[in-house]
Amino acid sequence: MSQAKSMSVREPIRERRPQFWQVARRCCQIAATVDVAFFFLFHLLDSPILAWINVVSVTMYVVAYRALGKQQNRLAITLIWAEVIIHAGLGVVLIGWGSGFHYYLLMFIPALFVSMRLKGAVVALAALWGYYVALYLLMWFIEPLQPIAPGALLGVYLFNLSVVFAMFSYLSFFYLTMVTSANRKLRRMATTDSLTGLFNRRHMTYLAEKELARFRRSGHPTAFLVLDIDHFKTINDQYGHEAGDRVLEEVAGIIKAQLRAQDLIARWGGEEFLAVLPDTQLHSAQASAERVREALLSHVWLTPSGERIDITISAGVSEFRGEDDLNSAINRADRALYRSKEGGRNRVEVETV
Ligand code: GH3
Ligand code: MG
Ligand code: MG
Repeated sequence: MSQAKSMSVREPIRERRPQFWQVARRCCQIAATVDVAFFFLFHLLDSPILAWINVVSVTMYVVAYRALGKQQNRLAITLIWAEVIIHAGLGVVLIGWGSGFHYYLLMFIPALFVSMRLKGAVVALAALWGYYVALYLLMWFIEPLQPIAPGALLGVYLFNLSVVFAMFSYLSFFYLTMVTSANRKLRRMATTDSLTGLFNRRHMTYLAEKELARFRRSGHPTAFLVLDIDHFKTINDQYGHEAGDRVLEEVAGIIKAQLRAQDLIARWGGEEFLAVLPDTQLHSAQASAERVREALLSHVWLTPSGERIDITISAGVSEFRGEDDLNSAINRADRALYRSKEGGRNRVEVETV
């Protein structure tokens, strides 16, 4: 209950999305560059007031950029907000709604939802909307204070529009990349075992069911190996759980190296592995299991104190039969594994009946 409650609380954005702050930094660079361009543009247009506003803007972006570098994110966001709101407001009031300076305010809409909790984002959004509408209505009643020539106004408008288009594209691309990479990470976490990097039991069951369906359709042979490390408990007991974990990682790597790229390998239980070998007959699967067993045997295993030890594996092999479901095929491999253990371990046994 308490766990469910704590999970429903959203983490602050600073911990959740470091990439967001990198993008905010990049946006500061872009915005400062645009403002430098504006400085020269408004000088050319003989509007020194507008030109000098951009010097203040560039300064604010430089400070925000440096603050983001020092993880002073709150200060940076305050500066960015202040700059955009004041700059858009001044741009519109001085040279008119037709300048397109108000478009910059719209860029906050997606950023709000990424950078704030929902409640805060909704409040900020309402305030932004109010400001935008107020600015629009204001320009119905007053004339621009520093009007520029119609041709120059068109130029400023097209410039602002293009910058906003480019920045929206950049931000959209960033959001897409972020979602895609989060999805990829989630899929990997849901399908693999974190210690060994092999498939986990759930995903292996799904993949093996698919192989079974393929076998039923095509009749191509498919084999199973169940591999279990011998006396693994002793390794844990003598050298510690950490050392046991390192052995599991290395064993997983050796199994992977000895099987083919198309073979499916999973950590099936604590120190037990399952491999599904598509297009493989029983005797070839047995040879593969022998290869794994011998590779483990010839590997040099060292304890944390540098002492050499032997680590062996026992295996059971089976193959899909016409009447099989997944469990029956794995059970036969399990029974073969049991015989390997009974027969003295460090062996490979094949299913009988
Ligand atoms: P056998 O040869 O009969 O297979 O003996 P065994 O000791 O390998 O088998 P047993 O089932 O008695 O013990 C398995 C041990 O594997 C017990 C458990 O603590 C350990 N184990 C399971 N998962 C992990 C893990 O993730 N890390 C470590 N270090 N040990 C694990
Ligand atoms: Mg074991
Ligand atoms: Mg076991």
